[in-house]
Amino acid sequence: MKTIESYEGFELGPIRPPSEASSLMLRVTRNCPWNKCKFCGLYKGEKFSKRPVRHVLNDIDAIRKCVDEIQADTCPADYAGTSPMVYVTAANWLGAGMKSIFLQDANTLIVKPDDLVKILNYLRRSFPSVERITSYARSTTVAKISDDDMRRLAEAGLNRIHIGMESAADEVLSFMKKGVDKETHILAGQKVKRAGIELSEYFMPGLGGREFSEANARETADALNQIDPDYIRIRTLAIPETTELNADCASGEFYPMGDVEVAQELLRFLQELEGIGSVVRSDHILNLLEEIDGQLPGDKANMTAPVRRFLGMEADEQVLYIVGKRIGVFSRLDDLQNPDLRTRVKQAMEEYGVTAENVNAFSSAIMKRFI
Ligand code: SF4
Repeated sequence: MKTIESYEGFELGPIRPPSEASSLMLRVTRNCPWNKCKFCGLYKGEKFSKRPVRHVLNDIDAIRKCVDEIQADTCPADYAGTSPMVYVTAANWLGAGMKSIFLQDANTLIVKPDDLVKILNYLRRSFPSVERITSYARSTTVAKISDDDMRRLAEAGLNRIHIGMESAADEVLSFMKKGVDKETHILAGQKVKRAGIELSEYFMPGLGGREFSEANARETADALNQIDPDYIRIRTLAIPETTELNADCASGEFYPMGDVEVAQELLRFLQELEGIGSVVRSDHILNLLEEIDGQLPGDKANMTAPVRRFLGMEADEQVLYIVGKRIGVFSRLDDLQNPDLRTRVKQAMEEYGVTAENVNAFSSAIMKRFI
């Protein structure tokens, strides 16, 4: 017999996209219903569940109450009965202007459209000034939702969906157990756009390893050219110790690429984007070249410029930049012109014993710490 889950208070999931840093996090589901991608250790060992709609509405009420109390300056008196997490969440969101909300965790669109519409309507009524409500979604889930239901979600206020495409090369998707193919990625992306919902697609350079690098760039660009998403976001592969992919690296089944090879793949990918008007962002700390930024088609030359500049540098300058970026001393290529920063990076290279031969291992070890 199914037991009725009791409300245990406000919940927060573990992650959000970098572009949702100012958003209120509202947990609608817990963890990931797929949880099989080889490169992802985020929800390993965690069970997926949908939160009862009533509990999500309770969370919305709790945030509304805290926001009201903070605004009325009555919070210290009432705070004793409120969970600190709700208070901090409400205070941070209020400070950020209360403009956007992100629905957690990995795939909110798996919730029945009727239930999601109920949550969205309640959110809109509770926070009428909110401009954006967004969510992660898997392409396989979106592909199964009818156009009518997608439009209902859009009308209820869901106005941006983030899809972790990562790759559209079928051999990469299959090896990585992503549970989707290129055709489904395209179908899902086009469906989101048809519903009038903004679409943000993520590309993961390096996911094909050495063997499928060319396909990873070419096939993903081709799928995105057929979708024309509002945003294309770059998030370079990092391989946490706990993942199946890490074991594949150890057994020789997967050959990870170094930063220079990943930059070559990225250049190929950017060059193949054609006939679309997407904004391209490199807004993730795992990316070596975060200055890639612009809108297609006009900014294409500017977008590829930093990649070409990096690839055109002498090998020892590339190593210096890689180390400086990974340890957080450099944030962009122009920082190489700063003598003080260069000295700091050279000192760090000496301290950690980084050379051209081991720079890839050094970079990979640091990247693991960011996820
Ligand atoms: S990458 Fe996304 S879909 Fe794959 S296991 Fe991780 S959270 Fe789930």
